[in-house]
Amino acid sequence: MIYQQTSAQSLESAILSNTGISLRMWREDLNHPFISGNKWWKLKYNLETARKEGHTQLLTFGGAYSNHLYATAAAAHELGFKSIGIVRGEETLPLNATLVFCKSKGMHLHYISRGQYREKDSEAFIQWLRKEFGEFYLIPEGGTNAHAIKGCEEWAHRIREVEDFDYLCLPVGTAGTMAGMVNVLTDKSIIGFSSLKGGDFLKEKMKQWLTHDINNWQIRTEYHFGGYGKVKKDLMDFIIDFEKEYQIPIDPVYTSKMMYGVFDLIQQNTFERGSKILVLHTGGLQGRAGFNF
Ligand SMILES: *Cc1c(COP(=O)(O)O)cnc(C)c1O
Repeated sequence: MIYQQTSAQSLESAILSNTGISLRMWREDLNHPFISGNKWWKLKYNLETARKEGHTQLLTFGGAYSNHLYATAAAAHELGFKSIGIVRGEETLPLNATLVFCKSKGMHLHYISRGQYREKDSEAFIQWLRKEFGEFYLIPEGGTNAHAIKGCEEWAHRIREVEDFDYLCLPVGTAGTMAGMVNVLTDKSIIGFSSLKGGDFLKEKMKQWLTHDINNWQIRTEYHFGGYGKVKKDLMDFIIDFEKEYQIPIDPVYTSKMMYGVFDLIQQNTFERGSKILVLHTGGLQGRAGFNF
Protein backbone atom coordinates (compact mmCIF):
# COMPACT_ATOMS: atom_id res chain seq x y z
CA MET A 1 0.00 0.00 0.00
CA ILE A 2 1.13 3.53 -0.68
CA TYR A 3 2.32 5.27 2.48
CA GLN A 4 3.03 8.97 2.79
CA GLN A 5 5.42 9.82 5.63
CA THR A 6 3.70 11.54 8.50
CA SER A 7 4.96 13.67 11.38
CA ALA A 8 3.80 15.86 14.24
CA GLN A 9 3.07 19.56 14.47
CA SER A 10 2.73 21.89 17.45
CA LEU A 11 -0.67 23.12 18.59
CA GLU A 12 -0.28 26.51 20.22
CA SER A 13 -3.19 27.41 22.47
CA ALA A 14 -4.09 30.15 24.94
CA ILE A 15 -5.10 27.35 27.31
CA LEU A 16 -1.47 26.25 27.44
CA SER A 17 0.12 29.57 28.37
CA ASN A 18 1.50 29.53 31.91
CA THR A 19 1.26 25.74 32.10
CA GLY A 20 4.57 25.00 30.42
CA ILE A 21 2.76 22.19 28.64
CA SER A 22 3.68 21.41 25.06
CA LEU A 23 1.00 19.91 22.86
CA ARG A 24 1.78 18.29 19.52
CA MET A 25 -0.42 16.39 17.10
CA TRP A 26 0.78 13.42 15.06
CA ARG A 27 -0.92 13.82 11.66
CA GLU A 28 -1.56 10.21 10.70
CA ASP A 29 -4.65 11.45 8.86
CA LEU A 30 -2.24 12.41 6.07
CA ASN A 31 -0.75 8.94 5.50
CA HIS A 32 -2.97 7.90 2.59
CA PRO A 33 -5.84 9.56 0.74
CA PHE A 34 -8.28 6.70 1.43
CA ILE A 35 -6.68 4.17 3.83
CA SER A 36 -6.37 6.86 6.41
CA GLY A 37 -4.90 7.00 9.90
CA ASN A 38 -4.86 3.95 12.12
CA LYS A 39 -6.79 1.85 9.58
CA TRP A 40 -3.68 1.72 7.36
CA TRP A 41 -1.66 0.14 10.18
CA LYS A 42 -4.46 -2.18 11.20
CA LEU A 43 -4.77 -3.49 7.66
CA LYS A 44 -1.07 -3.76 6.80
CA TYR A 45 -0.30 -7.22 8.25
CA ASN A 46 -3.79 -8.51 7.61
CA LEU A 47 -3.29 -7.91 3.90
CA GLU A 48 0.21 -9.30 3.98
CA THR A 49 -1.12 -12.46 5.63
CA ALA A 50 -4.04 -12.74 3.22
CA ARG A 51 -1.64 -12.57 0.30
CA LYS A 52 0.81 -15.07 1.83
CA GLU A 53 -2.02 -17.50 2.44
CA GLY A 54 -3.06 -17.19 -1.20
CA HIS A 55 -6.39 -15.48 -0.65
CA THR A 56 -7.90 -13.44 -3.47
CA GLN A 57 -10.89 -12.14 -1.57
CA LEU A 58 -11.35 -10.19 1.67
CA LEU A 59 -14.51 -10.08 3.75
CA THR A 60 -15.24 -7.73 6.60
CA PHE A 61 -18.03 -6.03 8.58
CA GLY A 62 -19.13 -2.53 9.44
CA GLY A 63 -21.87 0.05 9.85
CA ALA A 64 -23.01 2.22 6.95
CA TYR A 65 -20.55 5.01 7.84
CA SER A 66 -17.64 2.78 8.80
CA ASN A 67 -14.10 4.08 8.29
CA HIS A 68 -12.97 0.47 8.38
CA LEU A 69 -15.21 -0.61 5.47
CA TYR A 70 -14.07 2.42 3.50
CA ALA A 71 -10.38 1.74 4.14
CA THR A 72 -10.73 -1.98 3.42
CA ALA A 73 -12.47 -1.31 0.10
CA ALA A 74 -9.68 1.06 -0.93
CA ALA A 75 -6.90 -1.28 0.22
CA ALA A 76 -8.45 -4.27 -1.54
CA HIS A 77 -8.69 -2.24 -4.74
CA GLU A 78 -5.11 -0.98 -4.46
CA LEU A 79 -3.69 -4.47 -3.86
CA GLY A 80 -5.91 -6.36 -6.28
CA PHE A 81 -8.13 -8.29 -3.85
CA LYS A 82 -11.85 -8.73 -4.31
CA SER A 83 -13.76 -7.47 -1.30
CA ILE A 84 -17.08 -8.11 0.40
CA GLY A 85 -18.54 -5.74 2.98
CA ILE A 86 -21.19 -7.08 5.34
CA VAL A 87 -23.16 -3.99 6.34
CA ARG A 88 -25.21 -3.66 9.52
CA GLY A 89 -28.87 -2.82 8.88
CA GLU A 90 -31.11 -2.36 5.86
CA GLU A 91 -29.95 -0.86 2.61
CA THR A 92 -31.12 2.77 2.42
CA LEU A 93 -31.21 4.54 -0.91
CA PRO A 94 -29.67 6.71 -2.08
CA LEU A 95 -26.51 5.17 -0.66
CA ASN A 96 -24.45 7.45 1.57
CA ALA A 97 -21.03 8.68 0.44
CA THR A 98 -19.17 5.97 2.39
CA LEU A 99 -21.01 3.12 0.69
CA VAL A 100 -20.91 4.79 -2.73
CA PHE A 101 -17.14 4.93 -2.32
CA CYS A 102 -16.93 1.27 -1.24
CA LYS A 103 -18.88 0.23 -4.33
CA SER A 104 -16.73 2.41 -6.57
CA LYS A 105 -13.73 0.43 -5.30
CA GLY A 106 -15.46 -2.78 -6.30
CA MET A 107 -16.63 -3.86 -2.85
CA HIS A 108 -19.66 -6.11 -2.93
CA LEU A 109 -22.08 -4.95 -0.23
CA HIS A 110 -24.32 -7.38 1.57
CA TYR A 111 -26.78 -6.10 4.19
CA ILE A 112 -27.82 -8.00 7.28
CA SER A 113 -30.25 -7.11 10.06
CA ARG A 114 -29.00 -5.75 13.36
CA GLY A 115 -30.02 -9.02 14.99
CA GLN A 116 -28.02 -11.07 12.51
CA TYR A 117 -25.15 -8.66 12.86
CA ARG A 118 -24.84 -9.49 16.55
CA GLU A 119 -24.28 -13.12 15.53
CA LYS A 120 -21.64 -12.26 12.95
CA ASP A 121 -18.76 -13.86 14.85
CA SER A 122 -20.55 -17.20 15.26
CA GLU A 123 -19.13 -20.23 13.48
CA ALA A 124 -22.51 -20.97 11.87
CA PHE A 125 -22.79 -17.52 10.34
CA ILE A 126 -19.23 -17.57 9.01
CA GLN A 127 -19.89 -20.97 7.47
CA TRP A 128 -22.96 -19.55 5.79
CA LEU A 129 -20.86 -16.66 4.45
CA ARG A 130 -18.34 -19.10 2.97
CA LYS A 131 -21.14 -21.02 1.27
CA GLU A 132 -22.59 -17.80 -0.09
CA PHE A 133 -19.40 -16.01 -1.19
CA GLY A 134 -16.70 -18.70 -1.47
CA GLU A 135 -13.34 -18.63 0.30
CA PHE A 136 -12.19 -15.37 1.81
CA TYR A 137 -9.76 -13.85 4.30
CA LEU A 138 -11.84 -12.60 7.19
CA ILE A 139 -11.04 -9.29 8.86
CA PRO A 140 -13.10 -8.66 12.00
CA GLU A 141 -15.23 -5.55 12.54
CA GLY A 142 -13.05 -2.50 13.05
CA GLY A 143 -10.10 -4.58 11.84
CA THR A 144 -8.91 -5.50 15.32
CA ASN A 145 -6.97 -8.76 15.62
CA ALA A 146 -3.38 -9.77 16.37
CA HIS A 147 -2.18 -8.64 12.92
CA ALA A 148 -3.75 -5.22 13.46
CA ILE A 149 -2.02 -4.83 16.79
CA LYS A 150 1.30 -5.79 15.23
CA GLY A 151 0.82 -3.00 12.70
CA CYS A 152 0.02 -0.47 15.41
CA GLU A 153 3.11 -1.57 17.34
CA GLU A 154 5.20 -0.79 14.27
CA TRP A 155 3.54 2.61 14.05
CA ALA A 156 4.35 3.20 17.74
CA HIS A 157 8.04 2.45 17.09
CA ARG A 158 8.04 5.01 14.32
CA ILE A 159 6.47 7.65 16.54
CA ARG A 160 8.96 6.95 19.32
CA GLU A 161 11.91 7.38 16.96
CA VAL A 162 10.79 10.85 15.93
CA GLU A 163 9.02 12.42 18.91
CA ASP A 164 9.94 13.14 22.51
CA PHE A 165 6.87 13.08 24.79
CA ASP A 166 5.55 12.07 28.21
CA TYR A 167 1.90 11.46 27.37
CA LEU A 168 0.30 9.91 24.31
CA CYS A 169 -3.42 10.62 23.88
CA LEU A 170 -5.57 8.84 21.32
CA PRO A 171 -9.20 8.03 20.53
CA VAL A 172 -10.49 4.52 21.26
CA GLY A 173 -13.10 2.39 19.49
CA THR A 174 -12.22 -1.29 19.87
CA ALA A 175 -8.93 -0.43 21.65
CA GLY A 176 -6.81 -2.34 19.14
CA THR A 177 -4.78 0.74 18.24
CA MET A 178 -4.31 1.64 21.88
CA ALA A 179 -3.10 -1.88 22.72
CA GLY A 180 -0.40 -1.58 20.06
CA MET A 181 0.73 1.77 21.46
CA VAL A 182 0.73 0.57 25.07
CA ASN A 183 2.75 -2.54 24.19
CA VAL A 184 5.58 -0.50 22.71
CA LEU A 185 5.58 2.78 24.62
CA THR A 186 6.15 1.24 28.02
CA ASP A 187 7.92 4.29 29.44
CA LYS A 188 5.15 6.75 28.46
CA SER A 189 1.71 7.41 29.91
CA ILE A 190 -0.97 6.48 27.41
CA ILE A 191 -4.45 7.98 27.74
CA GLY A 192 -7.23 6.61 25.53
CA PHE A 193 -10.54 8.44 25.09
CA SER A 194 -13.51 6.17 24.47
CA SER A 195 -15.78 7.40 21.71
CA LEU A 196 -18.53 5.09 22.88
CA LYS A 197 -20.76 5.13 25.90
CA GLY A 198 -20.16 2.58 28.62
CA GLY A 199 -16.54 2.18 27.61
CA ASP A 200 -15.54 0.43 30.83
CA PHE A 201 -15.51 -2.97 29.10
CA LEU A 202 -12.67 -1.66 26.94
CA LYS A 203 -10.28 -2.01 29.87
CA GLU A 204 -10.94 -5.75 29.87
CA LYS A 205 -10.60 -5.94 26.09
CA MET A 206 -7.27 -4.18 26.29
CA LYS A 207 -5.87 -6.77 28.66
CA GLN A 208 -6.52 -9.48 26.09
CA TRP A 209 -3.98 -7.82 23.77
CA LEU A 210 -1.34 -6.52 26.14
CA THR A 211 2.09 -8.12 26.25
CA HIS A 212 3.01 -6.70 29.68
CA ASP A 213 1.22 -5.69 32.85
CA ILE A 214 2.86 -2.31 33.32
CA ASN A 215 0.35 0.20 34.53
CA ASN A 216 1.15 2.82 31.90
CA TRP A 217 -2.32 3.42 30.52
CA GLN A 218 -5.86 4.53 31.30
CA ILE A 219 -9.07 4.91 29.31
CA ARG A 220 -11.21 8.01 29.92
CA THR A 221 -14.88 7.22 29.42
CA GLU A 222 -16.52 10.61 30.06
CA TYR A 223 -16.07 12.21 26.63
CA HIS A 224 -18.43 10.10 24.51
CA PHE A 225 -21.01 12.90 23.92
CA GLY A 226 -23.98 10.56 24.04
CA GLY A 227 -22.40 7.53 22.43
CA TYR A 228 -20.74 6.16 19.34
CA GLY A 229 -21.40 8.33 16.29
CA LYS A 230 -23.39 10.82 18.38
CA VAL A 231 -22.54 14.51 18.56
CA LYS A 232 -23.77 17.39 20.70
CA LYS A 233 -23.73 21.11 20.07
CA ASP A 234 -20.77 21.50 22.40
CA LEU A 235 -18.75 19.08 20.31
CA MET A 236 -19.79 20.62 16.99
CA ASP A 237 -18.80 24.08 18.26
CA PHE A 238 -15.50 22.65 19.40
CA ILE A 239 -14.81 21.13 15.98
CA ILE A 240 -15.61 24.36 14.18
CA ASP A 241 -13.36 26.39 16.52
CA PHE A 242 -10.56 23.84 16.35
CA GLU A 243 -10.60 23.69 12.56
CA LYS A 244 -10.60 27.47 12.35
CA GLU A 245 -7.77 27.90 14.81
CA TYR A 246 -5.42 25.17 13.57
CA GLN A 247 -6.52 24.56 9.99
CA ILE A 248 -6.65 20.84 10.78
CA PRO A 249 -9.87 18.96 9.99
CA ILE A 250 -10.98 16.51 12.70
CA ASP A 251 -13.73 13.91 12.53
CA PRO A 252 -16.78 14.01 14.83
CA VAL A 253 -16.59 10.33 15.84
CA TYR A 254 -13.06 9.94 17.19
CA THR A 255 -10.32 12.57 17.09
CA SER A 256 -12.58 15.49 18.04
CA LYS A 257 -13.84 13.76 21.20
CA MET A 258 -10.29 12.93 22.22
CA MET A 259 -9.12 16.51 21.55
CA TYR A 260 -12.02 17.95 23.54
CA GLY A 261 -11.06 15.65 26.40
CA VAL A 262 -7.38 16.61 26.23
CA PHE A 263 -8.14 20.35 26.45
CA ASP A 264 -10.57 19.65 29.28
CA LEU A 265 -8.00 17.65 31.25
CA ILE A 266 -5.39 20.38 30.68
CA GLN A 267 -7.82 22.94 32.08
CA GLN A 268 -8.41 20.73 35.10
CA ASN A 269 -4.64 20.68 35.69
CA THR A 270 -4.46 16.91 35.24
CA PHE A 271 -1.06 17.15 33.55
CA GLU A 272 2.02 18.24 35.49
CA ARG A 273 3.70 21.53 34.62
CA GLY A 274 6.03 21.17 31.70
CA SER A 275 4.47 17.94 30.39
CA LYS A 276 4.92 17.06 26.75
CA ILE A 277 1.70 15.73 25.30
CA LEU A 278 1.47 14.05 21.91
CA VAL A 279 -2.02 13.45 20.50
CA LEU A 280 -2.76 11.08 17.62
CA HIS A 281 -4.93 12.24 14.76
CA THR A 282 -6.22 8.84 13.70
CA GLY A 283 -7.78 10.00 10.42
CA GLY A 284 -11.28 8.92 9.44
CA LEU A 285 -12.24 12.20 7.82
CA GLN A 286 -14.28 10.45 5.14
CA GLY A 287 -17.25 10.39 7.53
CA ARG A 288 -17.05 14.12 8.26
CA ALA A 289 -19.29 15.07 5.34
CA GLY A 290 -22.12 12.87 6.62
CA PHE A 291 -22.56 15.10 9.66
CA ASN A 292 -23.54 18.18 7.73
CA PHE A 293 -22.27 21.06 9.81
C1 LIG B 1 -11.41 3.01 13.78
C2 LIG B 1 -10.96 4.33 14.30
C3 LIG B 1 -10.54 4.52 15.63
C4 LIG B 1 -10.63 3.43 16.65
O1 LIG B 1 -9.58 2.52 16.58
P1 LIG B 1 -9.60 1.21 17.48
O2 LIG B 1 -8.35 0.50 17.14
O3 LIG B 1 -10.81 0.43 17.08
O4 LIG B 1 -9.69 1.63 18.90
C5 LIG B 1 -10.07 5.76 15.99
N1 LIG B 1 -10.04 6.78 15.12
C6 LIG B 1 -10.47 6.64 13.86
C7 LIG B 1 -10.44 7.83 12.98
C8 LIG B 1 -10.93 5.42 13.40
O5 LIG B 1 -11.36 5.30 12.13
